Amino acid sequence: METIVIKFGGSSLSTTEKIKNAAERIVRIKQQGKKVVAVVSAMGKTTDQLVELAGQINANPAKREMDMLLTTGEQMSISLLSMALADKGVDAISLTGWQAGIVTENIHSNARILDVKTTVLKQKLDEGKVVVAAGFQGVTEEGEITTLGRGGSDTTAVAIAAILGAERCFICTDVTGVFTSDPRFVPTARKLPSISYDEMLELANLGAGVLHPRAVEFAKNYGVALEVRSSVEDEEGTVIEEEVSMEKNLIVRGVAFEKGMTRLTILGLNNQLNGLSSIFTVLADHQIDVDIIIQSQTDTDKTNLSFSIKTKDLENAMEVLEEHKQKIGYEGLEHEVNLAKVSIVGSGMVSNPGVAAQMFQTLASNQIQVKMVSTSEIKISVVVNEEQMERAAQALHEEYKLGAIVAEAVK
Ligand code: ADP
Ligand code: ASP
Ligand code: MG
Repeated sequence: METIVIKFGGSSLSTTEKIKNAAERIVRIKQQGKKVVAVVSAMGKTTDQLVELAGQINANPAKREMDMLLTTGEQMSISLLSMALADKGVDAISLTGWQAGIVTENIHSNARILDVKTTVLKQKLDEGKVVVAAGFQGVTEEGEITTLGRGGSDTTAVAIAAILGAERCFICTDVTGVFTSDPRFVPTARKLPSISYDEMLELANLGAGVLHPRAVEFAKNYGVALEVRSSVEDEEGTVIEEEVSMEKNLIVRGVAFEKGMTRLTILGLNNQLNGLSSIFTVLADHQIDVDIIIQSQTDTDKTNLSFSIKTKDLENAMEVLEEHKQKIGYEGLEHEVNLAKVSIVGSGMVSNPGVAAQMFQTLASNQIQVKMVSTSEIKISVVVNEEQMERAAQALHEEYKLGAIVAEAVK
């Protein structure tokens, strides 16, 4: 008997009515003779509300306690969905992350899944039960409760699908699939029938919040057949797969963007061989993610170094750099906040020179100044002022005719 893993996001479970609808969908899959694991997020904005609640009590709560608090959101959903299934005559059992065997590394608030111990999952499925598992949470080998980072329920679903060798993993959400850009900000965005793991991974890493990046990583590594689709509409969603045969000629497949970036510049950095390594080691030791890095050679013994980080990490980064000023050897720090990153992604870029030139021309003709650039084989990212982010995304979406091309492809 084949297994299906189906994940429902918070917006798809925000009311009791929606929970009943999710149960309805599960019943239909069960009736096809499948084993079903449902993975759920916390209802609606519950996680945000819990974060806010903690903030009213302590401005800097311990990550362990935050994990303890946030995991309660998913625990509400699993029990309610199981009750909804029972009400429809389906034998269902709710399992927390640790009951479902989700073992993670020993890091709070952003842990990676190390293993899924399947004994309980398999036993419940063999008994004919629908398993309703809590997304976003796990347990360390030492018995500590952890979370997987915001949006992490997708990763729970894909990890379970991978380990059970599921026929398919459905990610049910409030959009009908993966679009050429976020439809909330780019009204002409169109649904993609399919997208490759690599392109999806870039889009997710570059801010397309529709899938948690680690979920895509898991899916790629284990060859999980993944589909993003609507939790209400019956239409087909977007399949994420190894090779995308359709639209091969499409150079750019999507535009992603992300706010909340800051450019930090280290002025008058001593030009020593180990200068760069000591800066980035110190930042990494404090869990500060560095994104785009630009080094300019000003004269023979001094250089300036700029890099982008998340604005939420700015205070911490400044503190850490000040603390190690002597060791690193620099003259001063400067920063610019309210920046955003806008990226174009597409595997066709590899063999098409001129994509970057076209991107910069488009931005220039829209009076958008580029502050930083970074490229890889299948993406180009630029850092711009936050208030220009949406316009940049829309202009690029139009320039590469993303709405039109996809509309033609699905005809
Ligand atoms: P869930 O609660 O179901 O996990 P999310 O809010 O995490 O839902 O993800 C769905 C949202 O992702 C959509 O409402 C949409 O605004 C946003 N999104 C961003 N980029 C894209 C994209 N390229 N395609 C589709 N949706 C996107
Ligand atoms: N509830 C968590 C969040 O809001 C996890 C998830 O939804 O995937 O980030
Ligand atoms: Mg999500």
